[in-house]
Amino acid sequence: MIPPIASNFVAGETPAEALEHARQLNERNVKAILNLLGEHYHDRGPADEDAEAYLRLVEDIEESGVEACISVKPSQIGLDAGVTVFRENVERIADFAAARDVFVWIDMEDHTTTDATLDAYEELARKHEGGVGVCVQANLRRTEDDLARLADVPGKVRLVKGAYDEPESVALTEKSEVNEAYQTYLEYMFEHFEGGVAVGSHDPEMIALARDLHDEHGTDFEIQMLMGVREDAQFDLAGEYEVYQYVPYGGKWLSYFYRRVMERKENLFFALRAVLGR
Ligand code: FAD
Repeated sequence: MIPPIASNFVAGETPAEALEHARQLNERNVKAILNLLGEHYHDRGPADEDAEAYLRLVEDIEESGVEACISVKPSQIGLDAGVTVFRENVERIADFAAARDVFVWIDMEDHTTTDATLDAYEELARKHEGGVGVCVQANLRRTEDDLARLADVPGKVRLVKGAYDEPESVALTEKSEVNEAYQTYLEYMFEHFEGGVAVGSHDPEMIALARDLHDEHGTDFEIQMLMGVREDAQFDLAGEYEVYQYVPYGGKWLSYFYRRVMERKENLFFALRAVLGR
């Protein structure tokens, strides 16, 4: 069982718990992006198992009628075991989900995986027009070129600041530079992306910019935030905009919770406060 302090950030260990969390979000106008925790499998076996688990999850989403989509990590479904394993699994998931009208996001991992991830995304987004999305990271120096490539691809793109410690040769390492890049890319996306823009950030400044850009260009967009982070803002924004909460679940919750705390020590206090306030 997940201890109360971590359950602020993780919906549970089972798909049923994740779906119940999604259902509760739906009641407050927020949709869910369900993510089975897991990454960096070097063998095909566990990668195939998690791909299978995503297929079952897609069936559960369809049957339950909750407003939810899924987000998969390339290294969870085989990228570290070989690009072919990843391509086979991601295609299987995307085909299965498209047939059931469930949207599939592909998360972005460290810079060594960007090409393989974007190649897979582009092929699947063209195949399942409108049914697949990918994440891009504002901290990577290559992102300007990647966005130009993705502008005409019929899918959604989630812009995030970037969660991986990357070398200076490939990434901006100063926070202020990353914020500036994020704003520049957001402007580009609202001007050039017709498939839809996803703002994957908790930053009030970035959300405010997105709202202004939406007013200026009319481009469809959605706001995405993590479970347990600025949830009051998520519920407020959902009165006016499309808001998705990224909801992790599964047995591998400990390392995810640890990452949230290391990323922002206040998360521990927020989690503690939530527990004590229960
Ligand atoms: P930060 O720069 O961390 O924070 C900016 C401001 O936001 C803060 O000053 C504060 O005002 C507010 N804020 C931030 N956190 C909190 C908090 N806990 N409580 C209260 N206020 C807070 N990264 C990847 O590399 N690949 C992915 O595929 C990926 N997918 C993601 C999907 C979603 C839905 C989200 C939300 C993030 C994802 N990320 C991903 C992580 C992302 O790259 C950032 O590391 C993470 O979102 C932190 O950046 P930020 O934009 O929220 O702002």
